Amino acid sequence: MHPYYPTPWRGIEGDLSTIPNSANSERRKQQLHARILIADDEPRARASLKELLRFTGHEITLAESGREAIELLNSNNFDLILLDLNMPDLNGHKVMEHIDQYTIDCDIVVISGEATFDHASLALRNGAKDFLRKPYQPEELLRTIDNTLDHRRLKIENKQISQRLNESESLHKFIVNNSPDMIYLLDQEGRFAFINDRVEGLLGYDAKEIIGQHFSKLIFEEDINQANYTFNERRTGDRATRSTELRLNCKINDGPRYFESRTVPIELSSIGIYSVDEDNQKSFIGTYGVARDITERKQAEELIKYQLHHDLLTNLPNRTLFRDRLNMAMAHSKRTGKKLVVMYLDMDRFKIINDSLGHYVGDELLKLVGQRLRSELREADTLARVGGDEFNLLIPEINDIQDARNLAEKILRLTAEPFLIKNEEIFISFSIGISVYPTDGDTKDSLIKHADIAMYKVKNSGKNGYAFYSDRMKSHFAASLDIENGLRKAISTDELCLYYQPQYNTMEEKIVGVEALVRWQHPDKGIIQPNEFINVAEESGLIVPLGEWVMRKACQDMQRWQTEENISLSLSVNISVQQLEMDQFVSKTLAIIKRHNLDRNVLELEITEHAIMQDMEKAIDTLSRLSHRGIRIAIDDFGTGYSSLGYLQSLPINTLKMDRSFVEGIKSKGDNSIVTAIISMARGLNLDLIAEGVESQTQVDQLNSAGCHLAQGFFYSRPLPEDEFLKMVKSQPNSIN
Ligand code: C2E
Ligand code: MG
Ligand code: MG
Repeated sequence: MHPYYPTPWRGIEGDLSTIPNSANSERRKQQLHARILIADDEPRARASLKELLRFTGHEITLAESGREAIELLNSNNFDLILLDLNMPDLNGHKVMEHIDQYTIDCDIVVISGEATFDHASLALRNGAKDFLRKPYQPEELLRTIDNTLDHRRLKIENKQISQRLNESESLHKFIVNNSPDMIYLLDQEGRFAFINDRVEGLLGYDAKEIIGQHFSKLIFEEDINQANYTFNERRTGDRATRSTELRLNCKINDGPRYFESRTVPIELSSIGIYSVDEDNQKSFIGTYGVARDITERKQAEELIKYQLHHDLLTNLPNRTLFRDRLNMAMAHSKRTGKKLVVMYLDMDRFKIINDSLGHYVGDELLKLVGQRLRSELREADTLARVGGDEFNLLIPEINDIQDARNLAEKILRLTAEPFLIKNEEIFISFSIGISVYPTDGDTKDSLIKHADIAMYKVKNSGKNGYAFYSDRMKSHFAASLDIENGLRKAISTDELCLYYQPQYNTMEEKIVGVEALVRWQHPDKGIIQPNEFINVAEESGLIVPLGEWVMRKACQDMQRWQTEENISLSLSVNISVQQLEMDQFVSKTLAIIKRHNLDRNVLELEITEHAIMQDMEKAIDTLSRLSHRGIRIAIDDFGTGYSSLGYLQSLPINTLKMDRSFVEGIKSKGDNSIVTAIISMARGLNLDLIAEGVESQTQVDQLNSAGCHLAQGFFYSRPLPEDEFLKMVKSQPNSIN
């Protein structure tokens, strides 16, 4: 009947399908064709009644007794019964009682020989519509029947009309109450005159509780000012409220119902309602409003806002939010005069973990690092992930620089504890640069940049530590000018020299190779380590003549060792990217080897991942040409680069030099998963692998048992001047000499 609202209809009004619809009301209008039951024990009386009614068009059924009448009434629908009172088995009163008891919808006209007043009145009280005394006048009988049936028809029609009215009212009520929106009417004073049932689902109030209340009861305190202009809107037309956002209060939870939040965000449209009198005068009578629940939209907006300000992997704030917070913290510091601290944290060797153990492990590691650090920080501190393996930390207020130092040490301690991923313990370390407001910068950019510079300082001096920014780091540039001039002179005046560090086969405990490492013998400052001048040499281009000098000198020394000392070792020489980029690099190298009469495969050129990445194509080209001519290529400081390891396949490489930092991580059994990964990677690519920076027997043993049998490091020997190095080689138990 109401296909769109089948269930709620019944809920509201009972089963409306029983209400006569327009089709059966048609039937009722043809009242002439009523179904009439005649109940009389006298055959003649029945026959004459039947005869009398023959032409009325009604459908006539006869019952010979009270009992039969009841049976027929039970199983058929009759509009009217013509009932004799005096029947032997069950009299007319009993039949009427039955009709009443079972609320059978059938009008009763009693026709009886018992014409006493008592009988008549009893019959009428029992529900008879009329009483006729036998013998009756046929016209009287017909008129009585017509009247009764007319009444009956009117009654049914009335019922139908009122049911239709109910139906339409229910429909509106239904539509209003089942609206997904909250609909309300306010009176002139702003009190609820109507509110639909949605208020219960939305705010937990029964509509009845709200009627008569002032609207402010429902408005969240902070929004009351805005609501005063909109919720009880007086304007109409275009100026009325449309799509304004407000928050409504939920009912304080005192029952079984639980509302997750105390307010519900809604979008409101409201309009003033006016009545117009005969003089066309409008007067305000209240407000009609519709409030739509926008919780989901708000949540989506919140999510988007969250995503804009957070790193989705670690759920930490991102760079944008970090900078916001830094701005606020600086403003606060300016007022309070207190210091604030920015730390730049960069995970050492993250790339290698990511590439060797897979991105899943890499991601998990970042998450765990974030969680571990976050859980140890104060609420007010902001830890943000600002890049792949880079985190920024803001400490908005410190009393003492020592606090920052303590915190940096704490972070290093915390992150030195292994991280358990897929049942493997992963060991990592961090390089941390620290800048302090206001001493190290008064803008957010300068603070972050200076922390970054300090972090790089840590990276360059062996990682796994922290450093405060100092202006000296910035004056690095000025210092580098000095170095540049000095170095230029050094190359031409032979102030450079080479130290040699042996490379061991750890199984045989035998020196198999040597790395040439440059030193600068400064006339005033003594021996200067390459860390202090290689960068400047690279920046100034001096690395090219310097590198050439190293190559000549190393080859010259090797030639002498071979011929005079009968020593045969492989010779590693470090190469910078500028050298690789030089057009004549290949020809010059070949010429030097030739001049010193060396086998080409004696020379192994060490080049860092970093250098290769700077110009991959050029590097591949140059290294391939060298490799074709038999010169060996090694990747130095392997694992510290930031790029993917896919490049390994496209390069003509012979050896990987596992960076010192990995070897450093080997402390005891079971914590060398990255080392193992590098070893199996080298094996898979069929490359030699040498461990750099081996400093202890444990490391040698662990490397050996993991399958890496070449090593170089202080455990065996520091880089030595030529004569000392030669002494060492010759003193080997199984020395060739
Ligand atoms: P590198 O090529 O990775 O050289 C290894 C560095 O690690 C050397 O530092 C060496 O002294 C140091 N080392 C070796 N074993 C250990 C150990 O067990 N523990 C520790 N803590 N350190 C160890 P050095 O000689 O100061 O050289 C530093 C870097 O300077 C070299 O790193 C290399 O990149 C660069 N370098 C040195 N000589 C040259 C050169 O002739 N040309 C170029 N382009 N770069 C050079
Ligand atoms: Mg090297
Ligand atoms: Mg190295």
